[in-house]
Amino acid sequence: MPKEELVQNIERLKRERGAVILAHNYQPPEIQDIADHLGDSLDLSRIAQRIEQRVIVFCGVHFMAETASILSPDKKVILPEPTAGCPLADMLSLEDLLSLKEKHPDTEVVMYVNSTAEVKAHTDTCCTSANAVKVVEGTPEEREIIFGPDQYLGGWVQRQTGRKMIIWHGFCPSHQKILPAQIEELRERYPDAVVMVHPEVHPEVSRMADEVLGTAGMIRFAGESRAGTFIVGTEIGMVYRLSSLYPEKRFIEASRQAICPNMKKITLEKVFSSLENQEPVVTVPGEIADRARRSIERMIEIG
Ligand code: SF4
Repeated sequence: MPKEELVQNIERLKRERGAVILAHNYQPPEIQDIADHLGDSLDLSRIAQRIEQRVIVFCGVHFMAETASILSPDKKVILPEPTAGCPLADMLSLEDLLSLKEKHPDTEVVMYVNSTAEVKAHTDTCCTSANAVKVVEGTPEEREIIFGPDQYLGGWVQRQTGRKMIIWHGFCPSHQKILPAQIEELRERYPDAVVMVHPEVHPEVSRMADEVLGTAGMIRFAGESRAGTFIVGTEIGMVYRLSSLYPEKRFIEASRQAICPNMKKITLEKVFSSLENQEPVVTVPGEIADRARRSIERMIEIG
């Protein structure tokens, strides 16, 4: 089916099925263009909770669809490509977390939202890159914190807060593709550009940046900044997102290799067929969902 016809059919099916399309900022351009709402994990969780539509087509990765389903158990959450996972989330299993908790019994557990529902069910508070510092600062000062799965986000939060943290050794393979040499070269080529990077990058890279921000923070910062050129140190989908929002400014990817293959598994064809067939649906077993909901709701409350 030609692209235009595919988009028209998606629009039609969306109306017929009473569905809404949510898409993460890292989605391919053609998916960003058909989305009703775009955002980071925190924005999309909030939207999933408050929208009226009963069917959510979640263009992102598995843990995001799981989070939407946990927050809205009465809604049907569809992930157009069921194998779109997050290698970072998979780096910390429930067994890993339980054994950490056993070794460090009197601790608070703060988990990056990029984690499985089982892990969230044994977490005190979830966080996103946007509010991780605030979440950690909000925990009782005398308590140590177990943080996972991302070691670089954890290390960055530890440097900001000075808190004692036991940090799991996960990492995002896509953000690790951004190298210090690439930032150096781009700084030379664009001396007036602002370098903004995501806290999931390697600390050597974040030390070279002007700003360390989650994707929502990048959007805000680029809109408010007087600068005209930005080096964007995160997954490359963000360059399209920022360029669409601020066409008068210039956004350059820090590394063309910083691609999340899982985010790019979602295609227009898959969105169309998932709307037509109303599957694949993502669900989380009741007891896990009930426990995980508490830690996700705390994350949303903290904002
Ligand atoms: Fe997971 Fe990294 Fe892909 Fe985000 S960019 S979904 S953290 S693998």
